[in-house]
Amino acid sequence: MEKQILILGAGYGGVKTACGLQRQDIPFALVNDQPYHQFTTLMHEVAGGRDHPDDYRIALQDLIDPRVGKIRIGTVSAIDLKGRRVQVDGASLEYDVLVVALGSETEFFGIPGLQKYSVQLWGFDSALDIRRRMVELVKKATAEHPVNVIVGGGGLTGVELTGELADWIPHLSRQYGVHPEHVHLILIEAMETIVPMLDVELQRRARQVLEQKGVQVRTGTKVAEVKEGQVLFDDHPPLSYSLFIWTGGVRGNRLLGESGFPVDRKGRVPVDPVFHPKGMSDVFVIGDCAAFPGPDGRPLPPTAQLASQMGDHLAQNIGLLLKGRPLNAFHPHLRGTLASLGRGQGIGEVGNWKLAGGAARFLKEANKARYLWSIGGWKTFSRKRGQIRWA
Ligand code: NAD
Repeated sequence: MEKQILILGAGYGGVKTACGLQRQDIPFALVNDQPYHQFTTLMHEVAGGRDHPDDYRIALQDLIDPRVGKIRIGTVSAIDLKGRRVQVDGASLEYDVLVVALGSETEFFGIPGLQKYSVQLWGFDSALDIRRRMVELVKKATAEHPVNVIVGGGGLTGVELTGELADWIPHLSRQYGVHPEHVHLILIEAMETIVPMLDVELQRRARQVLEQKGVQVRTGTKVAEVKEGQVLFDDHPPLSYSLFIWTGGVRGNRLLGESGFPVDRKGRVPVDPVFHPKGMSDVFVIGDCAAFPGPDGRPLPPTAQLASQMGDHLAQNIGLLLKGRPLNAFHPHLRGTLASLGRGQGIGEVGNWKLAGGAARFLKEANKARYLWSIGGWKTFSRKRGQIRWA
C-alpha cells in the first residue's frame, strides 16, 4: 500500500523536500498556513520597500505538480505522535511518514512588554506591515515630532533590516517632503559589538557602513523592558520610539515541545544523522526546528542554506526508505555567511575569504537566483507580479 507522506511547513526545508519527492514521482501532501513559499531570507527587502512584494514569494501551486503533491492550506495545531495524526484547522490528517519543517519563531526571552509592543520581522505579512508603518511614520515626521525607529537586536536579521531601512528613509523623506534628519534609525545590541557571530573585521565594517548611512548604533545596550512608546535598558536611560522592531533572536517552533517531542533549551528537536528524533523512525525533523550537531558538536545555526540542504537530502533518503534501502547520513556543507547592508553593500565570510561591499552583495543576489532555479527552474523567474494564482 502507498505510504502517506505528510510534510509540515513550506519554508526552505519543506519546499526542498517536496520538490525532491516530486522529481522522484513520490506522492506527498504539503501543509502550510499560507498558499505561498516566502523567501524568508529577504524579508528585510520587503520591509524596506525595495521591490514589488510579489518578488519575494511564489505560489505553492506554481511549484507543486497536482499529479504528485497535494497542497493543504491550514495551520497545524497539534501532532499526535502515537496516533500518527496531525490536526490542521480542525481536520485530522493521517501519516505513515511525517516530515516536520515548521521553522522557528521569535524568541522574546521573557522580557516584559516586548511581545506586546514590538513588531517583528517575521515572514511576509509582518514585513509588509513594517513597510506600511514606515510610510505612515515618515509622512508625519517634523522637527517638533521626529520619528524614532528602533531595531532591537544587532544580529544578521537586525543589520540587514537596518541597512535596508537606512537606504529607504531618504527616498521616502523626499517623496513626502520631510527632512530625513527628522527620521532617526537606531540599532540596539546587548553585546559589545553588532554581528558578534562574524569575524572582528566584518563586525567593524558593518558598523561603519551603517553609521555612514546615518544609523545610530548602540552596543552594550540590553533591552530590559518595553512600554508603550518607550524602551528601557539595564544601564542606560530609556529611549522613546515610534516603531520598535524586535530582531533579538529565534527559537524552535513551540508546537513541537507541546506535541511531546523532546526539545533543547532553544525549543529545537535533537535529531540523529538522518533527521529522526530519538526513537521515532516514522518522523523526520529538519530545518530551524531541528538540533543537528555540527562539526564542533553544537547544533547547526538555523539558516535557510542548511534547511535547503536538509530538504534535498531528506527527499533522497525518503526515496531510499520506500525502496527498503538504508538511509544516508547528512553531511552539511557550511558555505559561509552573506549579509546585505542595504541596497549596494554587504559583508560575508565564504571559506577563508572575508568579503565586504558590492562583492558580498552580488554573491547574495547570485544565491537567490541559484535557489529559485533549484526549486522551480525557469518558471520561478518568469512569474509575473500581481498575477500569481493564490490558492
Ligand atoms: P541572532 O540570535 O543571531 O541575533 C540576535 C541579536 O540580538 C544578538 O546579537 C543578541 O546579542 C541580540 N540581543 C538579544 N537579546 C537582546 C536584548 N535584550 N537587547 C539587545 N540585544 C539583544 O538572531 P537573528 O539575527 O534573528 O538570526 C537568527 C538566525 O538566522 C541565526 O542563526 C542567523 O545566522 C540566521 N540568519 C542568517 C542570515 C544570513 O545568513 N544573511 C540573515 C538573518 C538571519
